[in-house]
Amino acid sequence: MRANGSGPAATLRFEESARQIAANARYIAGGVNSNFRLGMAPGPLVFERGEGAHLIDVDGNRIIDYYCGMGATVLGHTPARVIEAVQRQAERGILFAGQAPIEHEAAKLICERVPSAERLRFGSSGSEVAQAAIRLARAATGRRTIVKFEGHYHGWFDNVLWSTAPGLNAAGPSDAPTPVAGSRGQDPSAGDGLSILGWNDLAALEARLARGDVAAVMMEPAMCNQGAIAPLPGYLQGALAACRAHGALLIFDEVITGFRLGRGGAQERFGVTPDLTILAKAIANGFPVAAIAGRGELIDMFADGVLHGGTFNAQPIAMAAMVATQQSLTPEHYERSSVHGQRLQDGIREILTQAGIKAQVAGFPLMFHIAFGLDAPARDYRDVAASDKAAYSRFALALLKRGVRVLERGAWFVSSEHDAGIIEATLEAVRGAVREI
Ligand code: PLP
Repeated sequence: MRANGSGPAATLRFEESARQIAANARYIAGGVNSNFRLGMAPGPLVFERGEGAHLIDVDGNRIIDYYCGMGATVLGHTPARVIEAVQRQAERGILFAGQAPIEHEAAKLICERVPSAERLRFGSSGSEVAQAAIRLARAATGRRTIVKFEGHYHGWFDNVLWSTAPGLNAAGPSDAPTPVAGSRGQDPSAGDGLSILGWNDLAALEARLARGDVAAVMMEPAMCNQGAIAPLPGYLQGALAACRAHGALLIFDEVITGFRLGRGGAQERFGVTPDLTILAKAIANGFPVAAIAGRGELIDMFADGVLHGGTFNAQPIAMAAMVATQQSLTPEHYERSSVHGQRLQDGIREILTQAGIKAQVAGFPLMFHIAFGLDAPARDYRDVAASDKAAYSRFALALLKRGVRVLERGAWFVSSEHDAGIIEATLEAVRGAVREI
């Protein structure tokens, strides 16, 4: 700690990462394997290894990581129990194109933990199981329309990549959002099956459902791709009641909220049980596992005419990682991690307030969000979109130069490895970054 309280000096350099990304670009588009890894200043980084809450990059920087594998590594980067389970399973073979005994244990654990999960099917990514949920809902109801909310993200496929982060100049009126495609090359007709609404607005949802043509309402039950926004009191209950009244299914996308808002996800935290749930990310601490879970008679349709496939579904090594992860997600894990996550949030809020920086720090202990320039907590996408993103990007870069890596969009993910010492080191870097910007 430096005596003048300005925090650690902004000394980190990233030249070797830049060199390797440039070399990658000869063989890999943009030098990276996901568009979401392109964006951040000073450029995409290349990591040698992870250790607990840290990443060590090819420049030798040891960085406190709040990306946590985009939310996946809830136990940190090197949980011994998960790694041992993976090694043991790997010795038994790689992929059987048949069942492995571990699938039963894996499925049972999820069904015991997630309230809506009577039965499930495993997949490999959130995007994929979102597609399975949509197909199932259409098969079950004989209807086509899926209600999707502005700012919510359900993967990168053509039929859902609409209005995930639209510019406000293109988004149309808030009570009747214009669907905005997320990519060049997207099939324009793929959006025809969607109805885009603003989230946390029960009256608008009820009015839309009353038209009687909706197969399913799909939402992040707490909006975590833009902000970290809890549902308004009664919103989830009202959404479920309206779905029931008008013959639509309710799908919770708990790809982020599952195993971060608690072991049973947002549905347990807020006491609302949807018909279907999709899970991924933290389910297996970074191994490629996803699940679609829900009411037994719905999930059973996959064994009766609704196709769901995937070469890598329930890959045994990933299943072993999943079981070990779930076994590590004890009530004590949540208690301990939540204390640290809350201390971090409170500390950042205090530093920003003392520095006179207008900001909202909001969310949940293991996943929260910082928005600069807002007078009041965000309630929906349009509030978050009005925040000062340029100033936040400068803050994120100032943090990175001090050895703390956060997402440019304002999200912070906390793992069980972010202990008291790491939180205090982070707060020291925040003090320095605040001084710099
Ligand atoms: N749903 C939500 C809420 C997500 O945040 C994501 C990814 O960030 C997805 C679905 C897609 O998951 P994946 O990236 O595993 O395909």
